Amino acid sequence: MSHRPPPGICLVLTGPRLKDCLKQLQESRHHIDLAELRADLVDRADWDGLNAFSRQAGLPLILTLRQPRDGGKWTGTPADREAFFQAALDGDWTWFDLEDDQRLLALEAQWLGKGRRLVVSFHDFDGVPDGWAARLLAAEGPGITAKAAVFPQSSTDFLKFVTDLQTLPQGDRVALAMGGYGFSSRVLAARLGSRWTYASAPGQTAAPGQTDPQTLAVLYRFREQAPDTPVFGIVGNPVFHTKSPFIHNPALAALGLAGTYVPFLADDLPAFFAVCDRLGVQGLSCTIPFKEDVLLHVAETTAAVKATGACNTLWRQPGGPWKGDNTDAPGFMAPLAEKLSGSLEGLRATVVGTGGAARGIVWALKEAGVKVVVLGRTPDKAHSLALDFDVDWAPLGPESRLVVEDHPDLIIQTTSVGMGDTEDQDPLEWYDFTGRELAYDIIYAPRWTKFLTRAKKAGCKILFGEDMLVGQAFGQFRRFTGQDYPKEALKL
Ligand code: NAP
Repeated sequence: MSHRPPPGICLVLTGPRLKDCLKQLQESRHHIDLAELRADLVDRADWDGLNAFSRQAGLPLILTLRQPRDGGKWTGTPADREAFFQAALDGDWTWFDLEDDQRLLALEAQWLGKGRRLVVSFHDFDGVPDGWAARLLAAEGPGITAKAAVFPQSSTDFLKFVTDLQTLPQGDRVALAMGGYGFSSRVLAARLGSRWTYASAPGQTAAPGQTDPQTLAVLYRFREQAPDTPVFGIVGNPVFHTKSPFIHNPALAALGLAGTYVPFLADDLPAFFAVCDRLGVQGLSCTIPFKEDVLLHVAETTAAVKATGACNTLWRQPGGPWKGDNTDAPGFMAPLAEKLSGSLEGLRATVVGTGGAARGIVWALKEAGVKVVVLGRTPDKAHSLALDFDVDWAPLGPESRLVVEDHPDLIIQTTSVGMGDTEDQDPLEWYDFTGRELAYDIIYAPRWTKFLTRAKKAGCKILFGEDMLVGQAFGQFRRFTGQDYPKEALKL
């Protein structure tokens, strides 16, 4: 166990006026430990007030002047830059941030002589270059926090970032991976040995992948993390639309369990699982498109996985082999059983769609004794699903109206039609609800799909995608922690 202090949250102040920076600071003050003033983003008319600002701020400040090559807006000569920091020597800044290839050695000596500190930084917006970690190490020194921000373009790049970083001896540093693939590095600073992480004011993003201080402090419990805090997460592509962190993190907090749950964007599972080993990940939710491919990385599976061929939950003892479950099916069934308050035996159901989710749902319905017909737009897929689970199938179209009328107790919508670009579409528009059906759409964003709105209008009972989402998450939480989900923690 390390005795390093917990890392801090640094709010990047993005102007354009100093009064705006002050407002950003006040609004996030409870959730931050330090702030960085990006002078390159501040209107030149306000530069005379920078030192006064540093005295007003009331918390440790970094003064930074970034150029376009480092993601900033300042353009000027080296002499202008030196004059800028010279003028700042009278300010109450804790750190000057100087790029590692543009040091100001004489000025630095004066600054360090006053007991102040330096951040010596470099940025790479194209990838994770060879030698980046050695460059970070070379920047370290007395009074210096070394900073590197690189930009992984893939899971393999992110693995390189984590591996390289973990080969370094402990040091006074901040190492960040920007963008989607590196997002977890912004949350897991304690585990990665960074002294702080950077955050943007709500609604602003000073660098790719930054989130806001409240999300870091409250959702991810950033300041409570230690190097050995358990890590859970969700892997997918895309993944940042997920609600899962808002389900699992509050539950971990409500039970007083150490742990944080983060989204992981991935494009390559072997590299991603190597990252999991390095970051100590011990529980994973798995979403599109990995529910089948993750099985190559799982040593033991439940009956639900074996029956459906899909896995949405992985867990393990630290360092041990992964086990896999599919909580989609029970998560789908639990609200259904509650709504109908009793056995489903003998009911007749229409399942619209033949994708991964439909497979789990058809299996669970069959297990419960429901007579199922599947409707699919791709006959081969519908046919093969019907064969696998011994149910009937029909094409997805008006020619199947009578088939639906013959399976009217439960109408279950499992396609992705009704969300995103197809939010204005209803895959069953040709079917007129009678009001006696129970309509269940597993899409959870939007809450009210066109399909559900129409069913509700006809007087049907309704179940939402969110009901299933919560049900499957409860099952995952049990796998991750061995404890029941504390329902009072659920605030979606
Ligand atoms: P998937 O494996 O990609 O399957 C998608 C299904 O939608 C396929 O049957 C596909 O048909 C069909 N489809 C797509 N576009 C269509 C169109 N224009 N017309 C007719 N059919 C169309 O995805 P999945 O994992 O099953 O997920 C499906 C949906 O369920 C997603 O919206 C997902 O977010 C949601 N979901 C929700 C939960 C929850 O907890 N609420 C859990 C899992 C999934 P083809 O095969 O013919 O292309």
